[in-house]
Amino acid sequence: MSNRYDVIVVGVGSMGASACWHLARRGVRVLGFEQFDIPNTRASHHGFSRMIRLAYFEHPDYVALLRRAYEVWDDLERDAGQQVLHVNGGLYVGRPDSELVTGSIEAARAYDLPHEVLDRADVARRFPQFHVPDDSIAFYETKAGFVVPERAVASFAEQALRHGATLRAHEPVESWSASDSGVCVRTAKGTYEADRLVIAGGAWSNQLLHDLKVSLTVTRQTLAWVWPKRPDLFAMGTFPCWALDLSPRDAFRGVHYGFPMAPPDLANPGFKLALHWPDEPCDPDTVDRDVQPGDEEQVRVALKAHFPGADGDLLAIRVCLYTNTPDGHFVIDRHPEHDNVTIACGFSGHGFKFASVVGEALADLGQRGETDLPIGFLSAGRFAKTS
Ligand SMILES: Cc1cc2nc3c(=O)[nH]c(=O)nc-3n(C[C@H](O)[C@H](O)[C@H](O)COP(=O)(O)OP(=O)(O)OC[C@H]3O[C@@H](n4cnc5c(N)ncnc54)[C@H](O)[C@@H]3O)c2cc1C
Repeated sequence: MSNRYDVIVVGVGSMGASACWHLARRGVRVLGFEQFDIPNTRASHHGFSRMIRLAYFEHPDYVALLRRAYEVWDDLERDAGQQVLHVNGGLYVGRPDSELVTGSIEAARAYDLPHEVLDRADVARRFPQFHVPDDSIAFYETKAGFVVPERAVASFAEQALRHGATLRAHEPVESWSASDSGVCVRTAKGTYEADRLVIAGGAWSNQLLHDLKVSLTVTRQTLAWVWPKRPDLFAMGTFPCWALDLSPRDAFRGVHYGFPMAPPDLANPGFKLALHWPDEPCDPDTVDRDVQPGDEEQVRVALKAHFPGADGDLLAIRVCLYTNTPDGHFVIDRHPEHDNVTIACGFSGHGFKFASVVGEALADLGQRGETDLPIGFLSAGRFAKTS
């Protein structure tokens, strides 16, 4: 078979697998390369749950993308015949000036999203599992929930294959080049050509995009699971997804967040929680994936103070990777020097919920060089302008 394709996708992870699915279902001849398994536990898409929220405190412009993301997750579930998104409500707690709460309220009001603002007494009555400080307030939205990342990436890949894509695992891309006549990708096994290239290399984006001029910092992040003293209180159906911003008080920094206990076919056993805050910078090839002193303490401090009913024995700790941009927002754009190359990187620890719609944007850019999706605020050029 010819080594010439319409589009080559580098990295069949969260965003790349989605792009392959979108392209293949449009009848585009697509070839995807992945350096590890599809899916895998060395990149950024493992750990059984990724929170999805609609009232986005980080930047209100994400809301339009999220609305579309929910629709495309539905499309994937229909195509794959299995559930990847679980909607069970989201409760975000902080001080009255916490960006988590004020930003969520702002986004909800701007986009007329169903929500409730709760005071401490409301939280204590409705969610007695939470022990929150006296002056905290909370935001609740029913549309929040979680996506199962391994299942989502596997479904994207399987449906891409069923729609005619070619996916090649354990074949790392060593180099690529672009010219007016197309793109060329080299691996240890061969040289491949296409009209266009999509690069979605996650924590390895610095190696794939030397000349991008966007500073990307990869950080080592951990996820933890514990067995609650009162498991019934934290079961799915009883307990929402949650986020708790008490920084910089009480020895906290960043936002602790977590999930209800999900059935064993969806998750590790136990109550999962983590800290959303870029941790130690690392190299994705040499990062220490063993448990370090301090990893458990990072979540134990939140358990003891705010979830005494869940403060039980440790069951698991996993290491995962964030790829952070200087402003914490994604980069989804055409390559500044090559019109036929599309880039998606720097998802800064909050990108998975968007994978369904990011793949659609990448497919638009990869197929016809433009998209109607509102991604202008995620351009690579925003960094050039400020430097
Ligand atoms: C601990 C943790 C918790 C998170 N929680 C949430 C959350 O609750 N909600 C949320 O929305 N997001 C969350 N995220 C963020 C989300 O998971 C990431 O933003 C998202 O997975 C990034 O997708 P990606 O496609 O850029 O990277 P990946 O999914 O890592 O995919 C990149 C792929 O490219 C491959 N690759 C790289 N270089 C090459 C090469 N040269 N050749 C071939 N293949 C290559 C890699 O092996 C990898 O499989 C979390 C992340 C972590 C680490």
